Amino acid sequence: METLANQRVLVLGLGVSGRSAAAFCSERGARVTAADERSADALGPLDLPASVATVVGVELPDPASFDLVVPSPGVPPSRYAGRARRVWGDVELAARNLAVPIVAVTGTNGKSTTVLLIEAMLRAAGLRAEAAGNVGRPALELVGRPLDVAVLEVSSFQLEAVDAFRPRVAVVLNLAPDHLDRHGDLAAYRDAKARIFANQEPDDVAVLNGADPAVDTLASRTRARVLRFHRDAPPAEPGAGCAWFDSGAICLRLGDELSRVPLDGLSLPGLHNVENVMAALLAVSALGADPARAARALPDFEALPHRAEAIASREGVDWIDDSKATNPHAAGRALEGCDRPVVWIAGGRDKGLDYDSLAEVACDRVREAILIGEAAPKLAQALDRRVPCSDAGSLAEAVARAAHVARDGDVVLLAPACASQDQFENFEDRGRAFREAVAQLDAEEASQ
Ligand code: ADP
Repeated sequence: METLANQRVLVLGLGVSGRSAAAFCSERGARVTAADERSADALGPLDLPASVATVVGVELPDPASFDLVVPSPGVPPSRYAGRARRVWGDVELAARNLAVPIVAVTGTNGKSTTVLLIEAMLRAAGLRAEAAGNVGRPALELVGRPLDVAVLEVSSFQLEAVDAFRPRVAVVLNLAPDHLDRHGDLAAYRDAKARIFANQEPDDVAVLNGADPAVDTLASRTRARVLRFHRDAPPAEPGAGCAWFDSGAICLRLGDELSRVPLDGLSLPGLHNVENVMAALLAVSALGADPARAARALPDFEALPHRAEAIASREGVDWIDDSKATNPHAAGRALEGCDRPVVWIAGGRDKGLDYDSLAEVACDRVREAILIGEAAPKLAQALDRRVPCSDAGSLAEAVARAAHVARDGDVVLLAPACASQDQFENFEDRGRAFREAVAQLDAEEASQ
């Protein structure tokens, strides 16, 4: 199918990416039906072209009646697999219509940060680059933009709906259990991630985390040239190219060339962000950008909100909002990033994940774990006797308790390891509530 004109297209899910896909296909002459089981009230204004037929608040139409199904990331394949003739998600549609090389970034954690790092670095090196995907902007918005490179964040859900997607550079940051409620098990989750390589050729590049065994084994699934990054020691075998962290600088070996990028002035906290920077440097180098020039973007690069974001410092205690740590792997990295005793606020909606390795990380760092939400009992069980725990119920109560427990020089860290939807709309909402509750402490103190 080379053209969308006159094709019967079914867009499933009317979130941001679904709406962009419906408009995109309609503008190209397709006969679009856009469907969502949520009610019109819940969806709010859709702002779709008049030619798009909408089916909302009822059962989804049968995919078999359409030439093409465009599922949104939130719609599981069980809703269309076996019935749809052809499935292209918005990433596939965008890739088919972009005339420039694509850098695609996936992994359990760090995608948004790395995608924005790559965008900033490419721009610092003089290339016209724009990022899209989950970073606030649907991938299809890049089509038609004056670009040299498109940088896409791609989740495992989006990778379930690609077909001929062939990124010039594919980055896999890490792989830890998450979203198993949707994928079933870790092997299926890894298979979804590995689809990022499915159409790569030997003149493409794969950037892999050499220190993450689950990612490293994915090297066998790509035909592309593999570049690896390592959080500590350089690899025994540099392969086609690699990066490693040594004494405050990133060392890069690309072919016979060795370069060193000092990281002074990097405001991103934690070794996990050094990994993100290494991955970004390898990706931009693979596109021909000079690493030293690209690295000029680093001193001005600011952490995204709710990712290990320092939000307050009061009475010798730093308060950090890592509300985006919605799985145990990210929360573990947030704890590792603290070099002082931690009063840790965790919990929320359990995603059926195991907290045992997180408990290992917590046990010699955490002064007290203050637990909130539905997952509190499960977390308390995992932390059993290794970490003092208290149950706060709500986030506001947890903040009050943390202010009481924290001592001069401590960190209070919100790194929930869980989804937010038991008590909040989303992780942003949870992060804002945290910030407000901390500000409230100051207000209460001032009024006393
Ligand atoms: P994503 O888009 O994959 O969710 P983000 O950049 O938004 O990634 O970060 C999500 C969470 O993961 C945050 O809590 C952040 O502090 C943490 N994080 C960022 N980079 C990494 C990494 N390389 N490894 C582990 N955790 C990370």
